[in-house]
Amino acid sequence: MSESSKRSLKAFEGKVLNWTIHDWETVFPLIPSIRNYQEVFWFNENTVEVETALNEVGISLEQIQDTERRLKRFAPFFMKAFPETKPTEGILESPLRVVSEYQEAQTAGPYEIPFGRLILKLDSHLPISGSIKARGGIYEVLQHAERLAMEAGMLQEDDNYEVFSSQKMQKFFSDYRIAVGSTGNLGLSIGIISAKLGFKAQVHMSSDAKSWKKALLREKGVEVIEYDSDYSVAVEQGRKEAEKDPKTYFVDDENSIHLFLGYAVAALRLKGQLEHIGFVPSEESPLFVYLPCGVGGGPGGVAYGLKRVFGQHVHCYFAEPTHSPCMLIGMMTDQHDALSVQDFGLDNITIADGLAVGRPSSFVGKALRHLLNGIFTVTDAHMLMDLAQMADLEALNLEPSALAGLSGPSWLKKNKAAYAEIQKNYTPEALNQAIHLSWATGGSMVPESVMHADIESGRKLLKVLNSEVSDQTQISKDNVPIVMDDGSWRSTSEIEADSNTVAQALWLFNRLSGPESLQTPSKPVRLFLRKLDGEILGGLLGKLYRNALFIDVLYVDASLRGFGWGEKLVSKAEQIARSENATFAHLDTFSFQAPEFYEKLGYICFGVLDDFEDGSKRYFYKKVF
Ligand SMILES: *Cc1c(COP(=O)(O)O)cnc(C)c1O
Repeated sequence: MSESSKRSLKAFEGKVLNWTIHDWETVFPLIPSIRNYQEVFWFNENTVEVETALNEVGISLEQIQDTERRLKRFAPFFMKAFPETKPTEGILESPLRVVSEYQEAQTAGPYEIPFGRLILKLDSHLPISGSIKARGGIYEVLQHAERLAMEAGMLQEDDNYEVFSSQKMQKFFSDYRIAVGSTGNLGLSIGIISAKLGFKAQVHMSSDAKSWKKALLREKGVEVIEYDSDYSVAVEQGRKEAEKDPKTYFVDDENSIHLFLGYAVAALRLKGQLEHIGFVPSEESPLFVYLPCGVGGGPGGVAYGLKRVFGQHVHCYFAEPTHSPCMLIGMMTDQHDALSVQDFGLDNITIADGLAVGRPSSFVGKALRHLLNGIFTVTDAHMLMDLAQMADLEALNLEPSALAGLSGPSWLKKNKAAYAEIQKNYTPEALNQAIHLSWATGGSMVPESVMHADIESGRKLLKVLNSEVSDQTQISKDNVPIVMDDGSWRSTSEIEADSNTVAQALWLFNRLSGPESLQTPSKPVRLFLRKLDGEILGGLLGKLYRNALFIDVLYVDASLRGFGWGEKLVSKAEQIARSENATFAHLDTFSFQAPEFYEKLGYICFGVLDDFEDGSKRYFYKKVF
């Protein structure tokens, strides 16, 4: 059995935080759908008055403004070290983009935008690292560099920060190291900025990290350490390594206040951008924001900043892959990082590498407990289809994670609780004036070949969907389109995971609905013929399941034929079967193999397939002991 199905078995049979799965499913009715990898929406009923909720967290508007001022001090350095930041005068900020063609294309579909205008926030086009991580990740390194330089008496606040690109400063930083654990983009941001400032940089990357991200970092002189496991392990190892060396600074994605503040600055800047297009969130024109969520720092910081800056008329929702809904599980159950998606049998394998996190930040989950309006999940197929539509209709190239937020608006109508709340607070006229802001968190650094493959996959899926969508059976009960595909758009490991999901679902079904005897797992029966030097010359492979022996494979090398080895193998297997209380054996064999052989051993043919065009027949045999 594969790793992932073993894990879910554990969750199914054992207990998670002292509760059985049945207990969890009773208290949280969304859990069965989550466990089935279905798209769901969770409405957060714990929200309270915004001002109260903000003050519980204890991060002030002043701290966010202070962060923005620090970033301004670094602007001259950016213009010098990264000339591409000159047009924005050394400030890393992303544009807004109206996507009306895309919005139009959703009309009358399951993800129709029920009211208002859809706009993308193109963090995909942030300079330097092409993702939302250019906010928090870069900021954290800058504040550390500033502090080190000030402590060493090399810098004062009113100096020109161009000095950070001087030889002297670079030499000073070369004594220090920055380390981080990442699924890819955080490593990319931190690696690039650290290397530019002269730091040694070390990035601990999870197995989800795309190879192009690792290659790009190595090219920039960053030390990349690869792990075979997921994000949480990469972070843990990175943290441990860093603790050994006082000159290493570890960027803690799960808990860092600096990262959080770096992300929160986006809200101050967004205010200006929205004013520029004549929009102020209010009772007459609410703002709905959809943020793709991995560990939570990025979307958490932005959402917190938005609530600080705009108050009650901004509504924030997180979007997570159906295979990695860690923040949803953490916040819904109020257990935060005490639970992982694996605890519930989910595999944490998704094409959205930026969101492939199995255990959420408890700092963020707790901070947003009374603020966040909801969380929804998105399938990989859905992200890929949106990816293709954005490319084809809007000429925008985004990475899969960046599309996760786009189904948010449709949930606001589909979900009863969400719709009731919105109708209570806003008139239809106000909703018509609303803006839906879907945070497009990354994409501009993706190599063309990778982007092309993703777009092609998305187009293929759209084709399948559009060709069969008129068929009633293609829409599920909750109005989500269902597609049938051969998985060819998935990587080998993803196809493996998908296959396990299917096999495991049947296994669980059998366990719950079939006779009790089905619940005992099968036992392999393996016999080998080998020379004493180790060479294998034949064998029998079969299994014991319920009260039967099934002989799957029997083979004897030509050099051994005529010595009765075939018979010996079968009798030995039967003997094992009897000792395990089996009462019969069965197998199938072709006419060109050895049907007579089995008849000689007492096997009786109970069925023949004789439809093969080459004239060969397949015989089914059994023998009752
Ligand atoms: C990291 C990342 C996110 C989510 O940020 P977290 O802080 O991990 O929640 C979203 N989109 C992309 C592209 C990312 O790289």
